[in-house]
Parts: sequence; C-alpha cells; structure tokens
Amino acid sequence: MTDTSRPPGLSRRHLLAGLAATPALGAALPAAAQTAGPQWTPQQAQAALKDAKGTKLVLLGTGAGPVPGRSRQMTSHVMLSNGSAYVLDCGMGVTDQYARTGIPFNALKSIFITHHHPDHNIEYGPLLIVGWVQGLALDVSAFGPPPLKQMTDDFMRAYKQTVDFWAEDFHMKPLTAVNVQEISGAGPVMQDDNVKVSSIVVEHPPVKPALAYRFDFKDRSIAFSGDTAPLAAVAQMAKGADVLVHETMYVPALENYLRAAIARGQPVKFDAFMAHMKADHTPAEDVGRIAQEAGVKTLVLSHLTPAIDSITDDTWREPVAKYFKGEIVVGKDLMVV
Ligand SMILES: [Zn+2]
Ligand SMILES: [Zn+2]
Repeated sequence: MTDTSRPPGLSRRHLLAGLAATPALGAALPAAAQTAGPQWTPQQAQAALKDAKGTKLVLLGTGAGPVPGRSRQMTSHVMLSNGSAYVLDCGMGVTDQYARTGIPFNALKSIFITHHHPDHNIEYGPLLIVGWVQGLALDVSAFGPPPLKQMTDDFMRAYKQTVDFWAEDFHMKPLTAVNVQEISGAGPVMQDDNVKVSSIVVEHPPVKPALAYRFDFKDRSIAFSGDTAPLAAVAQMAKGADVLVHETMYVPALENYLRAAIARGQPVKFDAFMAHMKADHTPAEDVGRIAQEAGVKTLVLSHLTPAIDSITDDTWREPVAKYFKGEIVVGKDLMVV
C-alpha cells in the first residue's frame, strides 16, 4: 500500500509507531486514573471456557494498529462452539494468545480475515505453520478478501522447506495447502454443522474490500464490525445479534496524543490527521448509536484507538452509554464473552 492518498507530512504509520513509545502520554489524559487492566490471565480465560455452556467468544487481541510492545495485542478473536474453533483476524500475537486459551489447535476449523492491514493479517501464515506443528488439521479453511489465495500460496511456498524438514523429522504429513475462499462482497460466506457466516462490505479507505462478518451459531449470534467508519450497514448486519464487537476510537485521547506529538516537533497536521482517522474509524459515540440501532444485547468495545492502558474502562464506556442502553463490555485481551 502506498501513502500517496495522504496529505504531505501526514503519516499515520509514524504516529501509530509513536503511540507505543509514549508511555508518559497517559499522564496528559483528562480522565487518566487507575484502570482495571488491559487483559485477563490465561487461567481466567481457561476457567471461563471450562465452565462455559454454549458458544463463547475470546478476545485474543484488542489493540488497534500494527504497534508492537503494548499490553494489548493486535486484533484477533476465537469463537468456540461445540468443540470447534473459529478464528477471526490474525494480528501479531494470535498464535500465542490462542494457545493461552487452552483450546487445542486441532479444534481450529476456519480462519476469517476482515481486511488486509497488518494488525489483522500479519500472523496468518505463522498461525498456520506453528498451528500445524501443534496439531492443526490439514483441511483447515480460510476466508477473506482477495488476494488471500495468492498470499496463502506464496507463504506456503516460502516455508515449504521448513515444513518439509519438520514433517520428515517428526513423521508428519506436511501442510502443503489451505482451503481458501476469497470473499469480495456481501452475502453468505460459509456454513457448517455449528455456524452460518455472512459478510458485508464496510468503509475503510483505501482498503477494498474491507469486511464485517456475522456468525450465527445455533445458540448465539456474534457480529464484528471490522475496521470501518460509522456505517448504517453494520447496524443492519448486526440486527438482533446477541453480541456486536465494534471497533472504537476515543477521540479526546487521540487528539491529546496528536497535540503532544506536535509539541514534540513531529511534522503532523492536526486537522488532516483527524479527518483521515474519522474517514477510516468509528468514534465511541457512533459505536453506541450503531449498537442501539442494531438492538444487540451486548456491545464489546475493541480494536481500541488509542490502545493506551491509562484510559479507564469508565472513560471508554461513557460516550458509548449516552446512546446504547444494553450491556457494554470494554474489551480486554483473553476476556471470554
Ligand atoms: Zn485495524
Ligand atoms: Zn484497518
């Protein structure tokens, strides 16, 4: 992807990278206070899954953007239903986080990608290879926008020797290919004994297509906005769902961060940067409006922008609760919903 569509001096890449390197930023936030913490422990997640009746969602990574070194991992989720696991998005950390849930790798049936940004797809290939070493079935399927087929083939080709060495050493059947189905638009994606999956196209320029997904399990429906500007189509897709996981941007904290970056001399244009973020992502108030319109039971705030630990749960919740009257969950890594 090129940055040619962006005004000169405006680099989201550099700004997002800076977010990780600015631990003092929290001190400048208006509502900075003690937070309940950005993650559950593996033990908490495993206990919740063990006691679970019916379909469960585990938030594996809840931070927005391809920023390493934070408390929150990049975006990924796993749904567990009737012993089968379904992964949505593969940001960095997905393989470790999956393992921490205690869900066996041979339970993983299908992987879904919302769009081709690194915080959603960078660990797709490593999940396949390390997962295979750990027992992933050879008939695993993957769904996502083009060119997912080519990406999968290229990755498998790049790691063929690695896989072959391992297969020879441990007498395993090598993972040579993945059943990939490319999804370009709205409509049904797949169906198996546990779940019916559908997609819609969302607005996340310049990424085309960027997808939102809805998973209708027998006992529970879970919808994911993916990365998108506020969109009525997301409310329609999520209509009546039990759970909506929506990306959430807390604008005051982002603005504070930007001002601090500008004060440090970074060549950023405030208005242009914020206009860009608003064209691509959803402010917390709009997340509340969309969830209320959809009439979902539970709204999970995730893909948090900015993913700064000092922003309290109450701070995330407050602008959303002005508009949404159902249950609001502030996403944490390894949280079971
Ligand atoms: Zn993202
Ligand atoms: Zn994105």
